[in-house]
Amino acid sequence: MTTSHWFRPHNFSTPNMTADVVIVGGGYVGLSTAYWLSEFQPDLKIIVLERSHVGAGASGRNAGFLTKGSATFYKSLTQHWGVDRALDIRQFAEESLDLVYQNILKSSPEIKFEKTTSLTLFQSQQQNSDWSASEFKPDDFNFKWKSAEELAAGLRGKFMGAYESGPEYKINPVQLLTSLKTILASRKIQIIENLSAFEITQEGVSTEYNNIKCKQVVLALNGYFPHFHPVFKPLITPQRAQMMAVELEDDIDSNSLHYDSPERVYWRKSQDKILLIGGKRLLDEAGEVGDYEKLSSNIQAGLESYLQDILKLRFKVIHRWSGTMGFTEHELPYITKAEALTETFVIGGFSGHGMGFGFRSGQEMAKLVTGQISQSFFDNFKPVKIKL
Ligand SMILES: Cc1cc2nc3c(=O)[nH]c(=O)nc-3n(C[C@H](O)[C@H](O)[C@H](O)COP(=O)(O)OP(=O)(O)OC[C@H]3O[C@@H](n4cnc5c(N)ncnc54)[C@H](O)[C@@H]3O)c2cc1C
Repeated sequence: MTTSHWFRPHNFSTPNMTADVVIVGGGYVGLSTAYWLSEFQPDLKIIVLERSHVGAGASGRNAGFLTKGSATFYKSLTQHWGVDRALDIRQFAEESLDLVYQNILKSSPEIKFEKTTSLTLFQSQQQNSDWSASEFKPDDFNFKWKSAEELAAGLRGKFMGAYESGPEYKINPVQLLTSLKTILASRKIQIIENLSAFEITQEGVSTEYNNIKCKQVVLALNGYFPHFHPVFKPLITPQRAQMMAVELEDDIDSNSLHYDSPERVYWRKSQDKILLIGGKRLLDEAGEVGDYEKLSSNIQAGLESYLQDILKLRFKVIHRWSGTMGFTEHELPYITKAEALTETFVIGGFSGHGMGFGFRSGQEMAKLVTGQISQSFFDNFKPVKIKL
């Protein structure tokens, strides 16, 4: 994507600029990295470059689950990495939510958020017993079983139980980004929108019409990494994800964040009688590879069927949209140093967990950039060599 002359930011007196650190990508992760860099080194001159507007990518298009992830996610991590390492990831997610609550949510009355729990739902005993036959022990990960009788009335008769986890948050992600943006502006961090980075040069970063001289670059491009450089193609796959908002005829009384993993859907209420639902990617897995937004009629129809047939709801669709996630093979992000002409770092591939992991990940990246650590938490999982 390029920016035309007409959208070009005209407020610079000099075409070429300088900074200590340039962060490319104005999503939640890029802004979180800028937040922590300025916490650690308030004098750093930081520029954030965003090719469109802050939140144009997944960060402004998601379901607003500030979550540690479903029980199914930790079961899969346990199978892949073993119990202890899966527990480390759980702790990382817990820290991330705590940090965003303590540093941003608590002191930002303009952000609408709700402290809640998440529920990993089971429709049948069979689903639960298939699922339970593994070394993953939900209790060790602070998932508490709730039987059907303990679930909200609107879930009873549809689900035989659920694993509950909390505290987690429902948020309006755009309000969260706007507040972060305001904090960054108060710290004199320059966020330049409508400007794409194209290349890392010996001097820093080249964009459509200028060069930004800097000492360090952080790439926070999520699903758009392969577009920036082909070296990312085998590492991060752009996958579209479909969302829908509906107005309910009769309200449902569960205020949690819900995962129905076998059905591959996630849903929650955003306010009385308004419900958001996403998922069903497997209905058109191949068609959903790509880093541009479009609606998939198959998947959108699948989301409607779920609401009708499983949740037994009557509703009117009020909005449909899609967004791009950056998927890695093991659904864990890369937070690492790359080899490039200017010192460069990569943070991305959050695979649908970026709002949960993002704030703590930005902190980890800031520690890497400022030399407080030589390897990130996620470097210990999937070390990669990236040469740009
Ligand atoms: C539909 C949907 C629902 C989701 N639901 C949830 C959820 O409920 N909870 C959760 O934890 N996660 C969820 N996710 C995932 C989560 O939104 C992402 O993991 C997270 O937002 C990633 O943040 P980011 O900053 O890395 O990426 P992005 O928000 O995608 O930011 C990357 C930015 O880089 C910019 N950019 C790209 N190329 C360039 C360039 N060359 N120069 C300058 N800028 C560039 C893009 O415009 C974009 O703004 C969902 C994702 C989608 C799509």
